[in-house]
Amino acid sequence: MSKVVKFGGSSLASAEQFEKVGKIIRADKARKYVVPSAPGKRFSADTKVTDMLYACYALAEEGKDFKAELKAIKERYEEIISGLKLNLSLDAEFEVIAKNFVEKAGDNYAASRGEYLNGIIMAKYLGYEFIDAATVIFFNESGDFDADKTDKILSAKLAGCKNAVVPGFYGSLPDGKVKTFSRGGSDVTGSIVAKAVKADVYENWTDVSGFLIADPRIIENPEAIDTITYRELRELAYMGATVLHEDAIFPVRREGIPINIRNTNAPEDDGTWIVESTCQKSKYVLTGIAGKKGFCSINIEKAMMNSEIGFGRKVLQAFEENGISFEHVPSGIDTMTVFVHQDEFMHKEQKVVAGLHRLADPDYIDIEADLALIAVVGRGMKSTRGTAARIFSALAHKNVNVKMIDQGSSELNIIIGVTNDDFETAIKAIYDIFVLTKL
Ligand code: ASP
Repeated sequence: MSKVVKFGGSSLASAEQFEKVGKIIRADKARKYVVPSAPGKRFSADTKVTDMLYACYALAEEGKDFKAELKAIKERYEEIISGLKLNLSLDAEFEVIAKNFVEKAGDNYAASRGEYLNGIIMAKYLGYEFIDAATVIFFNESGDFDADKTDKILSAKLAGCKNAVVPGFYGSLPDGKVKTFSRGGSDVTGSIVAKAVKADVYENWTDVSGFLIADPRIIENPEAIDTITYRELRELAYMGATVLHEDAIFPVRREGIPINIRNTNAPEDDGTWIVESTCQKSKYVLTGIAGKKGFCSINIEKAMMNSEIGFGRKVLQAFEENGISFEHVPSGIDTMTVFVHQDEFMHKEQKVVAGLHRLADPDYIDIEADLALIAVVGRGMKSTRGTAARIFSALAHKNVNVKMIDQGSSELNIIIGVTNDDFETAIKAIYDIFVLTKL
């Protein structure tokens, strides 16, 4: 049995947090491969080491003095080292970093040092081997992750290690330069390592007890989801629910390795299991709700549109020509509505309207702004009658006007469009009807 365990920044923000992590790792021999993030926030007004590194390097890039900023970063690590009573000095490492900053090694290199240094501390603390991610995680010339090369080299390397620490977030380009994933990318590293060792599970330790049914900023103390499928997760993550980096599911998904989201501060909680497929029913008809504000709808009307072959293509071409991707396209007999992100669309709207007239010759075009989309996601909906009825009666009860409804034939989710102003009320109403009153 082998497990890959990734710990997020808040789980490694201080010596105290490191100790919790050490206990978790030592409690299970299967936890052989560890992927740490950089130290995160110790309290809400604190700054993540990654952000300190970006800011410090920005000074170096401008040729300004960055000594004080680098010293503050070093102090974050020294506080952890002394708190753990480790016999370890990072002086030599910081000398190299300072020199590389002066030589303008790049912001990717700078940011990656957060994980690199935390990995050194973690390896020392656990007595595990330290593997610099730059030697085992690779990107190609275009800067895209090179899965084949990485898998070959990383799995060969780890086959020879009983226990190892591989820092998250970065790897190297063919010329040896360090490159990072996008923010939160240690999740991706964890997934890549899990695939390389064909782990039984990829444990992703964070500061919440799993993936929550709804956004805790809208719903007070929402319950965590027990089990969610990759497809459900994609739908919710796309709509803004974040707990895991978007790209983290791909490496493990292909290998059928489940992800278990756990809470470093409450290790007794089971957390959320993210799986390919399951026969386990979710506790409620819905698995989760998520949503985003800031959409526009462009309603296009044309008599007899339905019988005009190619009409839809022409409409979408007007958006494509302006580099705008569409979100949803519900249609009627003589109408077609295109939902787009307001910020992408706003400064191009007249060009799109002109394009629509030129390409599709509609009778009428109407634009509505400040809309929100809500995704109600659940594999349980497929086998349950009346889900839509319950959602819409709950919304009607709260005086929420529904602007758009879209249910894919997979019956995995129902997308609802409301005004931005109704967004929170709508989410509360849906959570209430499915979770609190357990309908
Ligand atoms: N430290 C990086 C960040 O703050 C990567 C990570 O934590 O996953 O984005």
